[in-house]
Amino acid sequence: MAERLIGAIEAGGTKFVLALAREDGTLLEQARIETRTPDHCFPEVADFFRQTAATHGPIAGFGVASFGPIDIDPASPSYGTFTTTPKPGWAGARFQDVLGAFGAPVVVDTDVNGAALGEWLQGAGQGCNTLAYTTVGTGIGTGVVRLGKPLMGFSHYESGHITPPHDRSLDPFAGSCPYHGDCLEGLAAGPAIEKRWGQSLSQLGSPPEKVELIASYIAHLAASLVLLHMPDRLIFGGGVMKAPGLLQAVRRLTEQKLGGYVRAPQLDPGLEQYIVAPGLGDLAGITGAIELGRIAADQ
Ligand code: ZN
Repeated sequence: MAERLIGAIEAGGTKFVLALAREDGTLLEQARIETRTPDHCFPEVADFFRQTAATHGPIAGFGVASFGPIDIDPASPSYGTFTTTPKPGWAGARFQDVLGAFGAPVVVDTDVNGAALGEWLQGAGQGCNTLAYTTVGTGIGTGVVRLGKPLMGFSHYESGHITPPHDRSLDPFAGSCPYHGDCLEGLAAGPAIEKRWGQSLSQLGSPPEKVELIASYIAHLAASLVLLHMPDRLIFGGGVMKAPGLLQAVRRLTEQKLGGYVRAPQLDPGLEQYIVAPGLGDLAGITGAIELGRIAADQ
């Protein structure tokens, strides 16, 4: 059983990472392809798994951690299908269409749930019962993992579209979300920051007052995650979080917003142990996708 082979896909907006691994996570083969249209990508995906399976043996399960929006409800007839994505060609595309030929079960989840699972398993979320992993990059999203299982409702969570308090005298920027304007993603994701100030926080030299403003929006999510899910730890990753001083400001403002109301050993003074950076860096997504594939192989 230890020799079962897992096919994994981390499907991102700009690139796909493809991997063949053992179920313990050992990578056997890996490739990166550019995210173009499914007509281009899916044949490349099929070629990779056909060739690597010919070398190493049959694949027992596939895990996919994908950009979205995508249907991740296994009970749904459109499970694994992209829904309203504005990415040309992808609406209606379905991973099973390319992976079905291999005759192995497929589990599809979001990229952020995949990364959350990866961090829970091998990264900064090890030892947590409940972990919330948030990425603040091109978009903002949170995956909540409970005992090795990403949580969902009728669909995946959309934490990036909550609406933090927005003081327009302090921050006149109207926000960049096409649906909500000044939701969290519209105020604090990478594209919102660049639209507002012309450059990223890091490129601007991380001026304290700008870091403080972005941190206040992110801390609104962090405090909300505590109140809604009571996770054992919060991980904040993604390109925006690399700005010097931002994670520290998020800790301080989250503690302020919580106002001492929640008392638990997990919430250390200063939240230095509680709010942390990812442990796996760029490997979180593919690590999680392999775990999703292992879950698929058990079905
Ligand atoms: Zn929005």
